[in-house]
Amino acid sequence: MTTYHSTRSRNESLTSKQAILEGIAQDGGLFVRDDVAAGAPSLEQLLAGTYQDRARLVLGHLLDDFTAEEISTCVEAAYGANFDSKLVTPVTPCGQDWTLELWHGPTSAFKDVALQMLPQLMRVSRAGDGRRVMIVTATSGDTGKAALEGFADVEGTGVTVFYPHGKVSDIQRLQMATQRGANVAVCAIEGNFDDAQSEVKRIFADEALRARLAERNVVLSSANSINVGRLVPQVTYYFDAYAQLAAAGTLKPGDAIDFCVPTGNFGDVLAGYCAKRMGLPVRHLVVASNANNVLTAFLTTGVYDRRRDLVKTISPSMDILVSSNLERALYWIDGGNAERTLERMKALQTEGVYRVDAELLAKLQETFLASFSNDDETKDAIRRAWEDEGRLIDPHTAVAWRAAESHFDPMVPMVVLSTASPYKFCRDVYEAIWGEIPGADAFAYMDALCDNTGVEPPKALAKLRTKPVRWDDCTEIADIPQYVVNAARRIF
Ligand SMILES: *Cc1c(COP(=O)(O)O)cnc(C)c1O
Repeated sequence: MTTYHSTRSRNESLTSKQAILEGIAQDGGLFVRDDVAAGAPSLEQLLAGTYQDRARLVLGHLLDDFTAEEISTCVEAAYGANFDSKLVTPVTPCGQDWTLELWHGPTSAFKDVALQMLPQLMRVSRAGDGRRVMIVTATSGDTGKAALEGFADVEGTGVTVFYPHGKVSDIQRLQMATQRGANVAVCAIEGNFDDAQSEVKRIFADEALRARLAERNVVLSSANSINVGRLVPQVTYYFDAYAQLAAAGTLKPGDAIDFCVPTGNFGDVLAGYCAKRMGLPVRHLVVASNANNVLTAFLTTGVYDRRRDLVKTISPSMDILVSSNLERALYWIDGGNAERTLERMKALQTEGVYRVDAELLAKLQETFLASFSNDDETKDAIRRAWEDEGRLIDPHTAVAWRAAESHFDPMVPMVVLSTASPYKFCRDVYEAIWGEIPGADAFAYMDALCDNTGVEPPKALAKLRTKPVRWDDCTEIADIPQYVVNAARRIF
């Protein structure tokens, strides 16, 4: 059995079940395993069968302390009628590229692919453990709702979500504020996503808080993309996209493929890198950013510098300056050097900046390309996708579609990861194509978008109009631990 350890040390050695329950390592690092290639299923095996078959193979390989039967029940529960496409993540043409539609799950964002699975993995991992689990998650908009939906009324678990006040779309806010379930809590915070994420990361190491929760037999865990149980399910759709293009005759097994990924916390694109290490013939992964283009600068110069203000954009799920999962990519590409990873992350925390040397930068650049779009460029891409290609795309997808244009190569198919339904951001999408409707609310924009395009909104989003608001809490960053304790008291 393969074990997981921190990106910052080798002190701990955990099974994947333990890593999923712990979420983050004691030393603040992320759980990794060193060799994902050894014993991996062959490309031929991974291209045969359905999405669910591929999920079983990928999960079975990366989470090898789960039995085949455990994996099968998880896959069955996670990828069924809760997705409104039989293919789960269909690939469709969009101009000279392909889009991988990752938003057919219950909350209309790509987070569902992992967060419909994570509660299943946790259920199996916890079997026989009498403790209750409180999932605490910071969200830039989409993770929160997907975590709430995934964990709502799952026995023995609670879920508390913090989102930055005023910095998510109206539809995103309503999705969270109307969340059903007896075991959920939703709270806005005064601050931005980075503030929320760093406080949530900190409370995992907060001994006083742990002790208070332990009194009620509660342990903390995370549904953020730093969790191994989030990362692993996302690897599947890279293989699946390749399989769909192979089935369509667009490529032959073994041919190279490029992916372009709208990136925030680096979880999605890291899953693509993991697929590459497992043997998928990925040539380039294009890291697409919005105006918060720290990653574009890093992948161009080797300097990661978060000492700047976070900009609010029309692609809010990517409004992030500290891309946590980059730590795993650095660890792997730097040959598994935990000491150097620790040094870099310490520098990032204390000085706000770190540098990698020319050699490591060159290694990163062999796979990772990067570019960014500001809001005007993003809106222009939304408009062109509709007017020229008849495709309605959300602002995150538009950021990636535009980045894909600048890295296009006619010899290698380019797959753009489409991460949200355009209806999650109907106001900005409508305005990008037809301009403002004075006085209109989110639902008026939803109707207008549907009237003008004939594209129906996802049912769950249309229903938000009449759902009662359950949550309007708002708190200071410093009060996050107390909010979690109160939620645990109420839920358990
Ligand atoms: C979360 C999210 C992203 C960014 O994904 P990361 O894994 O954080 O890089 C992009 N688009 C949408 C719609 C998202 O919800």
